[in-house]
Amino acid sequence: MSKFDRETKRNQFFTARDGELDALIDKKTGKIKKRLVEQINCPLCGNLKYKLVFVKNGFDFVRCDKCALVYVNPRMKEKEITKFYDSKADSNTRALDFLSSPLQQKIDKELYIELFNKIKKRVPSGKVLDIGCSFGNFLKVAKDRGYEELGLELNNMAAEYGRKKLGVNIEAKLLEDCNFPDNSFDIVSMFGVIEHLFEPVKIVKEIKRILRPGGLFIGRCPNVYGFVYMVLHELGRTFTGRVHLTYFSEKTLKYLFKKTGFKRVELETFITGRDSLLNYFQFLDPFGDEEYKYLPDKFRKFILDKKNFKKLENKLYELGLGMKFKFIAEK
Ligand SMILES: [Zn+2]
Repeated sequence: MSKFDRETKRNQFFTARDGELDALIDKKTGKIKKRLVEQINCPLCGNLKYKLVFVKNGFDFVRCDKCALVYVNPRMKEKEITKFYDSKADSNTRALDFLSSPLQQKIDKELYIELFNKIKKRVPSGKVLDIGCSFGNFLKVAKDRGYEELGLELNNMAAEYGRKKLGVNIEAKLLEDCNFPDNSFDIVSMFGVIEHLFEPVKIVKEIKRILRPGGLFIGRCPNVYGFVYMVLHELGRTFTGRVHLTYFSEKTLKYLFKKTGFKRVELETFITGRDSLLNYFQFLDPFGDEEYKYLPDKFRKFILDKKNFKKLENKLYELGLGMKFKFIAEK
């Protein structure tokens, strides 16, 4: 585990999560216990056929033959996961610890402020709905900027924390159960949530329905063809199998927005995963402290020069190879 993991208390989260994942596995087959999972069609296009990409944590990660979505199949049954989100599972408590750590909060806050600066001309005021809002960091930034905020979060511990400590409105509900009227919101957001959805098409359609015309659906999610994932493959931390069910690319994410009727879509990638890459290049643990000592001299000199690295980073973003997407889709 790296210094960053320790400072943000992510290390405790990953240890707890790995222990819980082990307990789901049938020791005889090495796969997730049959009673916990269900076989599905492609959650994006409905197609039946796929190819296996890799196996991890007892889950099969597959790619749809038709639309090329990477997804988990068979996957955990919905009721098992919904139960888990509000459970006192150690990884849930630990996830809250790392999300609420000062360093993580600072990183998130900066990104949210940057986002509001970008969209303020298009949506200068109004109602914001953050789905899967955790303890409400984004809602707090919205509220401070004069928007009317509401969050949905299944984890009661997180919802309670946000209401009490940040003073933001959060309800422990699923979007499907809210029955908001048409055109109710100016902004709907999902940060690290789309990849958790059982029915992404249905939910994104519902988001479009509750947004006013010209309203924005904004968020972030992993980029399955981020450079770091194209190198690390299944070692990539995003590939959990239990809660991350779909892994979008530029193509499949655009297809999702097109299919659900969004007009103007802006996609950008960010974060390179440099420390994981450099460590992996040196045959070291990709998630340990960043090391340079085994890198070939000329390469090390090149990569440690901030200007060079910035150029490289910008090139990766330009090519759509950052490890996460930021998206803005307009109704
Ligand atoms: Zn498909």
